[in-house]
Amino acid sequence: MIYKTYKPIDPVGRIVIPKDFRDAVGFREGEDLLIEVEDGRIVLSKAEQTCVFCDRTAGLRSYMGKTVCENCIKHLTNSAK
Ligand SMILES: [Zn+2]
Repeated sequence: MIYKTYKPIDPVGRIVIPKDFRDAVGFREGEDLLIEVEDGRIVLSKAEQTCVFCDRTAGLRSYMGKTVCENCIKHLTNSAK
């Protein structure tokens, strides 16, 4: 099934993902989502991935092609100075 809708972005960048969309992909309240920009699209995924360094599932980013949490990115960028 293809889901398609248009939603406004509020002043701080939030949108509401319709319940039927969330249900279709298994997004649940309180669950972390992975947000990535790929080829000009914002892609939301369940955060089933973990940081390659510490196994956290929160605050993940793509860093040099690897999934890394914000804490480890800070550590990496600070230790590179
Ligand atoms: Zn980490």
